[in-house]
Amino acid sequence: MSEHGKTPVTVLGLGAMGTALVEALLTAGHPVTVWNRTASRTEAVAAKGASVASTVSEALAADTNAIVLACLLDYDSVHEVLDPVAAELAGRQLINLTNGTPGQAREMSAWAEELGAAYLDGGIMAVPPMIGTPAAFIFYSGSGTVFGRARTALETFGGVNYLGADPGLAPLHDIALLSGMYGYFVGVIQAYALVGSAGIKAREFAPLLRGWLDAMGGFLERSAEQIDDGDYVTDVVSNIEMQAAAFPNLAKAAADQGISAELLTPLQPLMDKRVADGHGAEDLIGVIELLKK
Ligand code: NDP
Repeated sequence: MSEHGKTPVTVLGLGAMGTALVEALLTAGHPVTVWNRTASRTEAVAAKGASVASTVSEALAADTNAIVLACLLDYDSVHEVLDPVAAELAGRQLINLTNGTPGQAREMSAWAEELGAAYLDGGIMAVPPMIGTPAAFIFYSGSGTVFGRARTALETFGGVNYLGADPGLAPLHDIALLSGMYGYFVGVIQAYALVGSAGIKAREFAPLLRGWLDAMGGFLERSAEQIDDGDYVTDVVSNIEMQAAAFPNLAKAAADQGISAELLTPLQPLMDKRVADGHGAEDLIGVIELLKK
């Protein structure tokens, strides 16, 4: 704790996200030391009260009680930054908010533990302007001790959701949400491309698309129940056999309009296989079985 009772934080990485995190910490009165590979990017937060270190070693030594928070481009860059100072991480508490995979988080956690550091991973569900507002939230997993000590500092970024000791859980949840998001984006992109091919303005079509997607929103909870119950029998009279028969029209219509359907077509063989395997009377969500390798 600082003299003001606020946990000190040393932040490595002042890209768009790292800068937003530092600004939130400073606004809440946390003592912050920063380091960035490109020194000029530290100027804005220095003007707001951050202490600037010119090397990573200097940043770590500035306050040995500080939580070390990395927010760099990817895990390779985190290793590039931390490997040379590995010996200086003993006894430290490390939080990594760099985007990565569950495997990368587990590897980094084991690496940190071997060095005598406690590790907390994080998955940021926000863009930089959302940081410090209630709209942002971040998944955390790994050391509960680090989470407990850092919690007040982490709450300056937005909502916190600690998922447990397995460091892979935060990136797993992060990537699952991103998967849902990109699936949604894929459909929206395809719909706009299709109507656009007929000269219909996207703005004009947007309310129809919004209304339709909202009406279909029940798929999310309905399929969750079916997955957990292991029962894909349909109760909405839109079985997968009917859907698999109509689905080629999406690609045909796109081709007729001179549009690629490549974002959508991978679903067709999965639907066909479910039907061929005797699950034609079930719901679409049954294709989830074919994703399990
Ligand atoms: P930026 O591209 O703005 O910044 C990247 C940061 O990483 C910079 O500080 C850069 O330093 C540093 N860096 C890159 N490579 C190296 C290296 N080899 N050695 C040392 N430093 C390096 O990215 P963001 O700040 O936006 O993103 C940071 C992390 O946050 C990423 O993992 C991203 O996926 C994640 N994230 C970002 C979101 C966003 O909307 N921006 C949303 C959610 C997560 P330098 O200034 O010297 O180039």
